[in-house]
Amino acid sequence: MDQSLLESRFGLRKTRYISERFEKSPRITEHCSFSDHLHISYAIQDSSTLPSIRESLLRAYMYAKDWFAYQGDIELELWMAPKVIDLQYMTCLPCDENFFCAPGSQNGIKIILFVSPLSCQKNADKDHLSGCLVHEITHHIVRDISQATVFSMKRKKDLDVPMWIEEGLCQLIQSEVHPYLYHKLSEDIAKTTRWYDFEELWNDLSSCTDTTTAYLQAYKETKTFIETKGKMELIRLLYLNRTHDVNWNNLPYGENNA
Ligand SMILES: [Zn+2]
Repeated sequence: MDQSLLESRFGLRKTRYISERFEKSPRITEHCSFSDHLHISYAIQDSSTLPSIRESLLRAYMYAKDWFAYQGDIELELWMAPKVIDLQYMTCLPCDENFFCAPGSQNGIKIILFVSPLSCQKNADKDHLSGCLVHEITHHIVRDISQATVFSMKRKKDLDVPMWIEEGLCQLIQSEVHPYLYHKLSEDIAKTTRWYDFEELWNDLSSCTDTTTAYLQAYKETKTFIETKGKMELIRLLYLNRTHDVNWNNLPYGENNA
């Protein structure tokens, strides 16, 4: 791929949100459907990976639906980048090969972007891949249930679902599917001494200077909420968000941050 083409894609970050600028890489020419509502677009060189992608996607999809007791189906399409440069083209971000994202939808179909297991060793691990896919599917389900904006991820001013709750839920469900992550997050929490103010975790967490701590805290607080109030209460609040009859400022935040 031409470097100047990539630079012009990166330039779009100045004027457009990710949900407005993602576009399929020209090398992704193939398409197949695993069911009525699960699809994948991929490059021809990645054909051999389809059986394992299908297995991980089905596992992730069923797990996420069960977790939320979600009725019906969500139409999803994976865009599998043959190389990291294709992912950079599609997201307009200088991301690395481990990056996954669920930037929004096209023609009513919700999209998930990631790099092929043939170019990213980690993605060849089925538990890892199922975990990452369930994380992104959870973003789509949370937004569908709550009608929270995908647009700006600046949610504070609209009293919309705080990003720490959304990212916290995504990581919590991911860690149930990928046990290694569960242990890693527990270890990281035990080692961390400095945390953010909740005020700073309302919008897109990648805008925090210490993104790792921001995500870790999102996970920690969401887990605490679910352990004390129950997951049905959190799901209830997400549905209530549709009519904005929930004040996210009144959540029982962690003791350190009350
Ligand atoms: Zn996420």
